Amino acid sequence: MHCPYCGGQESKVIDSRSLDEVIRRRRKCLACDARFTTYERIQPHDIFVIKKDGRREEFSRDKLLSGIRKACEKRPLPTGAIDKFVDTIEAEIYKVGKSEVPSSYIGDLVMEGLKKLDHIAYIRFASVYREFADIGALKQEVDSLVIRRELTPANQLPLPSSEAVDSLVGRKRR
Ligand SMILES: [Zn+2]
Repeated sequence: MHCPYCGGQESKVIDSRSLDEVIRRRRKCLACDARFTTYERIQPHDIFVIKKDGRREEFSRDKLLSGIRKACEKRPLPTGAIDKFVDTIEAEIYKVGKSEVPSSYIGDLVMEGLKKLDHIAYIRFASVYREFADIGALKQEVDSLVIRRELTPANQLPLPSSEAVDSLVGRKRR
């Protein structure tokens, strides 16, 4: 971390603030006393995802984000809610502290989170992720959501009717 004024290499951190994935540090050069700010990206160790078929793939936040975005498409979620949600999932994955995590672990985390965030997004994600064999299995899942309705936040939208579920996963029926 070179001082931008004198090129000195020694600096003292006088203030540190974390902004999501970036740490903002206010530094004081020990050579010339100049103050400058650095932005340091947190670079967690690489994590590999073990897929169902045993293949390993480097964990990608972008991939996770796009999957969740797809499930939340056109849902009335507050701005930034999806990014925040992905942050939570990512933090959970890194918290495990392992260099490899099964894809099912990540999928389950997303399922649990979406259940609280938005029922429609949850069902969409579940229909892809769990690969519900038939519409009956999916309806069972929706029914279990109805039972748990009391536990969901007050701002949660009403659950979809069976017909709505049919049309949501309509592409699955051939
Ligand atoms: Zn300096």
